[in-house]
Amino acid sequence: MIVMKFGGSSVADAERIRHVAEIVKNQLERKPVLVLSAMGDTTDHLLEAADEALTDGVVSVDRIKELHLKTIRDLKLNAEVQKGILPLLDELSQLLAGISLIRELTKRTKDYLVSFGERLSVRIAAAYFNMLGIKAQAFDAWDVGFVSDSNYGFAELTKESWDRIPQKLIPLTETGLLPVVTGFIAREANGNITTLGRGGSDLSATMIAAACKAEEAQVWKDVDGILTADPRLVKDAKPVGTVTYEEATELAYFGAQVLHPRAMQPCIKTGIPVLVKNSYNPQSPGTRIISTLEKKHLPVRAITSRKNVTLVDIVSTRMLGQYGFLEEVFAAFARHKLSVDMVATSEVSISLTLDAVHDLTDLKKDLSQIAKVDIRAGKAIVTIIGDVRRSSEILARAFRTCQLIGVPVQMVSQGASKVNISFIVNDTEAPETVKALHMDFFDSLKLPTGRQAAGAISRSKS
Ligand code: ASP
Ligand code: MG
Repeated sequence: MIVMKFGGSSVADAERIRHVAEIVKNQLERKPVLVLSAMGDTTDHLLEAADEALTDGVVSVDRIKELHLKTIRDLKLNAEVQKGILPLLDELSQLLAGISLIRELTKRTKDYLVSFGERLSVRIAAAYFNMLGIKAQAFDAWDVGFVSDSNYGFAELTKESWDRIPQKLIPLTETGLLPVVTGFIAREANGNITTLGRGGSDLSATMIAAACKAEEAQVWKDVDGILTADPRLVKDAKPVGTVTYEEATELAYFGAQVLHPRAMQPCIKTGIPVLVKNSYNPQSPGTRIISTLEKKHLPVRAITSRKNVTLVDIVSTRMLGQYGFLEEVFAAFARHKLSVDMVATSEVSISLTLDAVHDLTDLKKDLSQIAKVDIRAGKAIVTIIGDVRRSSEILARAFRTCQLIGVPVQMVSQGASKVNISFIVNDTEAPETVKALHMDFFDSLKLPTGRQAAGAISRSKS
């Protein structure tokens, strides 16, 4: 058995769905289970509709209805299919009406609301497969064993899911049925619908693969796998052939936007490989994510950057050697429910980073009782994912490159997972830093040493 997951852009319209069917048809003998996202930007559109209902009292499902009904027509599905999804669209309308009346949108209601995206897409896709003569059935995640906690918006799948999912799904695939399962959603113990976090369909797919001990989980995207850098920044970014689960997790977390950072967890537990493929370019080999790399590789696998980071410098106003300083500082962050990304410490000072979305006024007030606090916004984290055994080489080369392009490094940390070396630069300097590092680590022929290197890099900047 394999799991094949297709994201929103891969099922955005009738043409894309036909294309997905072609890809799936070629692998039918491997007993696939399909996991689908909502069509196109439906999740965003649902959230916008909720916002309209909440703030303006307007109930409108037109855009969502139109996309799905048009897709049914374009795929030439029979009238029954349309009849089948109308109750869902009605239920959605009613929910929006409810929101517009009470002018309240709780996290729980929001999860219920966005669940319609995936519930609609699987029904249409399954109907299309049946029309092609491939026996398929749409399932809401809870009908194939997905049980979560009740942390709405970012729910965690419970232990029961590990038993229930294979109990439900394996017998279905054994009969030759193609199950088409909603990604992203689950249900908590009381039956309320939950979601696994934006982009969470990846996790749905890896969870099924891991729980059913599938041969592999294929995650079909609109890029050629995990790339050595963001192709919008680096023209000749190339797909990385293989990465480890740890590397993929770090990449996802530090901005590679290829897989959901949580998606690796079930695979780490079970060692099921994940294959990231491009649905627009199925011939391309994609990226294979596995537990350990056998062969020798370049020291660096990929370079990412994440913008809109705030750097906080905290210097103790107490004496050197005072204990409990770190504890007090982190307790303050915990009190204000602020999650820290990077940390670097010395005896009397701590530098750390947070996403710029947080308001830090109260934290600053709090910390100022024990320390001098300096907050600087407009920073970016540049992360190099590479071979830890070669960290000295990577650091030396990275700093040399930053020096050559005249970008001051403002903080450094080597992640505990040991595959990541991150440093802080100004937001505005992040793109050129990534470009120059990519050039150094992946086009080393072009970049020897000293002056020549400086020349090559400054040419690459222009
Ligand atoms: N449809 C959801 C989202 O857009 C989940 C997913 O696509 O993975 O976030
Ligand atoms: Mg989506």
